[in-house]
Order: sequence, then C-alpha cells, then structure tokens
Amino acid sequence: MCGIFGFITTHGKGPDVARLRRIAAETQRRGHHAFGLAWLGRDGAIHTFKRPGPATANLGDLSPCRGASVVIGHCRWATHGDPADNCNNHPHAAGRGWLVHNGVVVNHARLVRRFHLAPQTECDSEVLGLLISRFAGSIGWRAVQTARCVTAPLAMLGVWRRPARLLVVRGGKPLWFGHTAGGIYFGSLPEGLPGKVAAINDECAGVLTFDGHGLRHDAYAIDR
Ligand code: GLU
Repeated sequence: MCGIFGFITTHGKGPDVARLRRIAAETQRRGHHAFGLAWLGRDGAIHTFKRPGPATANLGDLSPCRGASVVIGHCRWATHGDPADNCNNHPHAAGRGWLVHNGVVVNHARLVRRFHLAPQTECDSEVLGLLISRFAGSIGWRAVQTARCVTAPLAMLGVWRRPARLLVVRGGKPLWFGHTAGGIYFGSLPEGLPGKVAAINDECAGVLTFDGHGLRHDAYAIDR
C-alpha cells in the first residue's frame, strides 16, 4: 500500500519538522517495511536517507530537513524487492532528481524490455525514475509520459534542484495537501496535514517551482 508525503516552501523557510514527524507517523499506517526521505537543503544539494523499518523508528532523521525548500518522504509496504536490501527502498533516482512512489508498476518487466532500461534493484518503482530520466522535455511532461506507461494506479512525489521543484503526480492513488503560511504539505492520508485539507486532482501531474521569491504551478493532465 505504501504512503508518501512531502513539502515545498512558499517563502523560503523550511518545514515545521514537528509537523513533518506527525505526517510521517500518520503515513506509517500505510507501510512500515522501510522509511525514506529526499530533501533539497540550504546548501543547494539534494540529500537522501533510507532505511528498513518503520518511520517511527527514524523520526529523528527528519531533523536535517529543517531549512529544506523541498522534502519528499516514503513509508514503504514492499511489493517488489526485499526491504532488508536498502537499495530496494525509496527514494529512487530519477536522473538528477529523486522519486517516491505509491502503487505497483504491474508492467515493470515489460517496460524494462520495451525501453531497454537497466534497473539496479528489484523494486518495480525504480523503473519510474529510469523512465523519467529517459524521456525528453520538462519534468512535468516527462512525468506524464511515464505515468501513461503504467497500467495501474499510482501516486508519486519527486524533488529536483536549480530551481527547487516538487513533482506531484496523482493517478488513482490518494494524495492530499494542506497549506500553512510557510509552505504546502502533502500526504497519502489527510491526517496530520495543516489547514483546510483538499485532495489533489486525480489523473493530473503538477510541478511546483520555488524560484527564491514565490511558487509557480505548472499543471498537466495525464490522460491515459
Ligand atoms: N511497489 C512499490 C514497492 O514495493 C511501492 C509499494 C506500494 O505502494 O504498495 O516499493
């Protein structure tokens, strides 16, 4: 089942880490086999963390996300790939960015053959990152093409840098968001999200870009 969560700043300040911990603990209800994070830090670099075991055993590892402009997180319920082998856990690389995924890429073996991909792990989700880095165009357009290749429901969050970007994709799996004055928080479950919580439009991809001053939103229909 898995759960994903995330954050993007609206004015440059990092997330409320206590809130992120609450969201991670709620998200763990959807998966406790592994926990993972990727965040764009103040130093302009994307950092990652992943480890077998539940989010609540690793909530301290959210501390370095203080000051981050973008955060993505994953509470894994493993369907493909043993979580004890950490390379199977999320986030997965997507070119210069990183992805977390909820869903099962039921046709992943076929996609590997069709696009001549070279996965390094046993996790089906890795194929999504490989496809995003294979396609051309903007991150949003590449994500749409990737989602169109998948024949099962999915939700994904991704992080890129220069400029700071959060990719948000919902295609049949739940994904919610809520605002504070400082940023937007996302989660597979509405519990723990701030303010008036609303569902992300289904069968849509969005890229939120923080350019140092404000947030731009580019939206795409998946149409599959
Ligand atoms: N199939 C992915 C994995 O095994 C995601 C699991 C899920 O969302 O249920 O990591």
